[in-house]
Amino acid sequence: MAERMETESRKLLRRLRDTMASDVAGQARLDQITHLIADSMGTEVCSVYLFRDEETLELCATEGLKPEAVHQTRMRLGEGLVGRVARTGQLVNTPDAPAAKGFRYMPETGEERYSSFLGVPIQRLGEKLGVLVVQSRDAREFSEDEQYALEVVAMVLAEMTELGAFIGEGAALSARHQQAVLLRGTTGQEGAAEGHVWLHEPRVVVANPISDDPQTELVRLTEAVEQLRVGVDRMLEMSLTGDKDQLQVLEAYRMFANSKGWMRRMEEDISRGLSAEAAVEKEQSQARARMQQVQDAYLRDRLSDLDDLSNRLLRILTGQGSETGAEMPPDPILIARNIGPGELLDYGRKLRGIVLEEGSVGSHAAIVARALAIPLVVHASRITTEALNGDHIMVDGDQGVVHLRPDDTVVSAFRDKIAMLAQAQERFSSIRDKPAETRCGRIIGMHMNAGLMADLPSLENSGAEGVGLFRTELQFLVRNQMPKRSELSALYARVLDSAKGKRVVFRTLDIGSDKVLPYMKPNDEPNPALGWRAIRVGLDKPGVMRMQLQALIRAAAGRPLTLMFPFIAQFEEYTAARAELDKTIAREERLGHVLPESIEIGAMLETPSLAFAPKKFFDEVGFLSIGGNDLKQFFFAADRENERVRRRYDTLNVSFLSLIDKVVQRCRESNTPLSFCGEDAGRPIEAVCLAAIGVETLSMRPASIGPVKSLLRRVNLDEAREIIWDARERGEQSVRPAIVEWLRSQNGN
Ligand code: PEP
Ligand code: MG
Repeated sequence: MAERMETESRKLLRRLRDTMASDVAGQARLDQITHLIADSMGTEVCSVYLFRDEETLELCATEGLKPEAVHQTRMRLGEGLVGRVARTGQLVNTPDAPAAKGFRYMPETGEERYSSFLGVPIQRLGEKLGVLVVQSRDAREFSEDEQYALEVVAMVLAEMTELGAFIGEGAALSARHQQAVLLRGTTGQEGAAEGHVWLHEPRVVVANPISDDPQTELVRLTEAVEQLRVGVDRMLEMSLTGDKDQLQVLEAYRMFANSKGWMRRMEEDISRGLSAEAAVEKEQSQARARMQQVQDAYLRDRLSDLDDLSNRLLRILTGQGSETGAEMPPDPILIARNIGPGELLDYGRKLRGIVLEEGSVGSHAAIVARALAIPLVVHASRITTEALNGDHIMVDGDQGVVHLRPDDTVVSAFRDKIAMLAQAQERFSSIRDKPAETRCGRIIGMHMNAGLMADLPSLENSGAEGVGLFRTELQFLVRNQMPKRSELSALYARVLDSAKGKRVVFRTLDIGSDKVLPYMKPNDEPNPALGWRAIRVGLDKPGVMRMQLQALIRAAAGRPLTLMFPFIAQFEEYTAARAELDKTIAREERLGHVLPESIEIGAMLETPSLAFAPKKFFDEVGFLSIGGNDLKQFFFAADRENERVRRRYDTLNVSFLSLIDKVVQRCRESNTPLSFCGEDAGRPIEAVCLAAIGVETLSMRPASIGPVKSLLRRVNLDEAREIIWDARERGEQSVRPAIVEWLRSQNGN
């Protein structure tokens, strides 16, 4: 019987392939297919239901049901047996459909006469496309072989749908990947961009899912798997010096590559009529479907290993891959599931925008995107399956929204927005060389945050007076190994060269928490944000900090040097860090290096504790910079990386502003210069409030300097201050409503 069905399924596939090769297009082709499936399987009915939108299935072709029902009968996901197959992604096989749970009678199709029902999902790599159904009058349960044959056919149908085989004149079907799609994600970096899709990992398209020469296909598969195994072994050899965890992951990976079960299933698929690549994809689809059900993190990782291996295998078999892929469009918007900071830097400023399916606001890729000022949306689910290379796409980084293949109205609205932003930029550039002088005569220092050499040109373009925060960890994060002292020193020297005498505040290495160096063993800490990070690492393991201090001193050689220590929670940490610096200076002098002309030493205030440090600390520290991102998360005990809580508390909350006021007062008593370099410095309303309370210098992303300066130049900070403290007097939780109201009442604001 199995032998017979095997030939049956192969015969069926061959007939399908002939249909694929024929000139018939669109609806006619789909009609032919339903006819030949019913004919080959000996059933009265065969129907294809495809998704109209995410929630609705539509009968798109049928043999046996009333033809008038085609494109009329629709059902919601989960509704009836067809809806059940679509929702669960599992087949339904029953000899008595009307008695089955969830059966829905649809009079327009005349289906009450059919008793047995076999429905299988049409899906491609975990993406649901529709349902394929056969029905027959006699009450029989379909055999395992019949199930298998229908599943294989469904898979080929999915491939054909992907290839647009059912689009054509008169077809009421619109192609997959042709409709406009709106995806909502989270803002990673503000800004708006229009361009064309560039997939980081292009989808492999299987153009020939069917074969009638299993022997050749088996040889192709065996050779490709062999090539894959050699590749994995090579990866393993190369990482022999690497850490244990990584090795374990690769071992598991190798185990999969050698898995007999995987191989056997693919061979079976081939013997039933699939081509080698279709067999790989069928197993991959099933693994993806399983992945969606599995909760266990370890198992999910293993399934995703298998997914990765399948992709590699598909690339080997089809010869498709990044090296042979399409040409990058001139206005690329990068689409990826996730991407490492190094890979992102390789693309550099070429990119107009970035959309990630996963990613996170604080990921290294997000840090790099921010440094490069490229609009970024993260958590855009489905983007990698929806987007195709070359698709028109618009990215709204402000709203965290992505318009894929947008229609004309969206396009014009979006272009208006881009034009408005460009106009505003023009306004800002007209005040670029003017100071941020307020109506009450105060001048606020406008500095920029940086972390890469690529940021430095912004120093001139944005009109920033200097770099208020140079995040040195980026150089450590984007490499696979610890950078050398000589490399760092050369880089810092280049930064100082391009700053042309403007002040650059280098922050010493701030790692830990979300910033994990790829080449350092991660510490399994219960709460890394409160854990071993920044200066704590620097003081406990001073080797790297010393090396970095040396690099900084050598880079400055005869020029002024400004540096600050991150995450100082108590006075003693500052004195200990200073002592390290003093020792390093003495050593450098002994070694005969030219010392900096002067050294300014500051600290970052990122924990509330430091606001209450002894006066002696404020007297001794050269300057203070408030790291508002961290300070706020600790003040409100709300993780800055946690989407559920990170926006819960307002920076303009009276309690938080009172803490800032406290720091301002303490700095004044000791004549200590104070700046603020968290993200809030770059938000115009927040910046006005910080300046009104008494912060003298703000350091922000270069793109924020224009908008912040423009607003500061239009306000009277004495008035703003009164509004703030009045709101506090009135017992309001946040001063935002009062400040916004006041700003509105200002002429023209
Ligand atoms: C901050 O915490 O506000 C800050 C500027 O440092 P980072 O964002 O790099 O932690
Ligand atoms: Mg910080």
